[in-house]
Amino acid sequence: MKKYIKKIYNGTQKEYENYLKNQLQKEEKTFVVTANPEILMLGENKKSFDSLLMDPQTQIVADGIGIIKGAKMLGIHLPERIPGVELAEMLLKTCAESNKSVYLFGASRQVLEQLVTNLRTTYPTLNIIGFADGYVSDKQSVFEEIKRLTPDVVLVALGAPLQEELIYQNLSAFKKGIFMGVGGSFDVLSGMKKRAPKLFIKLNLEWLYRMAGSPKRWKRFFNGNVKYIWKIRKEVKNSND
Ligand code: UDP
Repeated sequence: MKKYIKKIYNGTQKEYENYLKNQLQKEEKTFVVTANPEILMLGENKKSFDSLLMDPQTQIVADGIGIIKGAKMLGIHLPERIPGVELAEMLLKTCAESNKSVYLFGASRQVLEQLVTNLRTTYPTLNIIGFADGYVSDKQSVFEEIKRLTPDVVLVALGAPLQEELIYQNLSAFKKGIFMGVGGSFDVLSGMKKRAPKLFIKLNLEWLYRMAGSPKRWKRFFNGNVKYIWKIRKEVKNSND
């Protein structure tokens, strides 16, 4: 676990946002993984996902509070969370302001259409070069379309790890683009699903709000988070022995 955590961006959200804006202006290809404990556990359990996370091209930011806490247990300081949904919003705004194009891939058709409508109202200058919902049977064919369009930003909302795997498998075909898996962000940005109230976010309890609203997440929580903390405890203990 430590090898992943050591790789995580250790600046502030503002600093990372400035870095991404710069990457966008320079047209430097960038792949961002917004990590929560579940994603790091996948690296532990699946060889191909370990390669994805450890690839020097892959940048990891701490989306979940579990990442910050786990890092602390390992003696690594990460200043704050960098929520993927906020990075996605920032990228959309920056694209609108700087004449860059965006492709939106994922979520249900209803959510996606609502999101596109909202974005066209909020950012009339935003160039949405294309979009596709996440329930098409051939997801690779969507990527073929994205390759043809060469957008400046590609947001993929299919849930982890599928979104990261798809991006990673196709990354070498692109010369430029900011690529980011954004999980349930389209549901939130479309207004179809509420993000946790501000107080929950401030108290780092956004995960609790999401769990309460979705019992399906409980098993995921156990597998991702409880096992993750055990694993880190074990690593700390072994390094002290
Ligand atoms: N999704 C999709 N296609 C699929 C499965 C999921 O487009 O085949 C979408 C789903 O509609 C949701 C997102 O992927 O918008 C995953 O959201 P979730 O909240 O599970 O992701 P998290 O933020 O927890 O990673």
